[in-house]
Amino acid sequence: MEERKIISEHYAHLLQRAAVRHADILKRMRYLSKLTKPSFDAKVHAWHDEVFSSIICTDCGNCCRNYGPRFRETDIKLMCKASGRNPLEFKKRYLVPDSDGVGYELRELPCPLQNEDNTCSEYEHRTLSCQEFPHTEGRNIQKKLVGLALDSLYCPAAYLICEKIMAEY
Ligand code: SF4
Ligand code: SF4
Repeated sequence: MEERKIISEHYAHLLQRAAVRHADILKRMRYLSKLTKPSFDAKVHAWHDEVFSSIICTDCGNCCRNYGPRFRETDIKLMCKASGRNPLEFKKRYLVPDSDGVGYELRELPCPLQNEDNTCSEYEHRTLSCQEFPHTEGRNIQKKLVGLALDSLYCPAAYLICEKIMAEY
């Protein structure tokens, strides 16, 4: 059996730095989330592209081990259709209703769809929540900075993007 791949030493080291810097990062992101800086989204989009151009997510896989994505009915339907699964059985086996009643969350982590090599067995049909993580490509990023600060504790890319935001602001 193939051995489960874990996070690379380099990314583990980045997360240690993120933990040491966390109080500062959280404080700054909280402050920035209350302001409106011009062209903020565009700047973060550029940093997102820059950071992810050198991040190899399959050397990390930490979001799939630590982050419980939201499964909307649409996500479940698309994923199950593509993989020939029964949506009711899928929900029963892997999901529970989420706390705000909008969709579902994983019964347990790591995500059962994560392969041993850190790839996603349903990559083409993964949830919107997975596609958008760590939410640095969308709009109104400034309002979601506290979430980014929390994500930076287990996502090396989110941490590097936080550092770029802090260097600029
Ligand atoms: S669905 Fe795929 S991308 Fe999303 S958490 Fe699970 S393994 Fe990761
Ligand atoms: S998105 Fe972040 S946590 Fe997920 S695999 Fe890539 S670097 Fe790791």
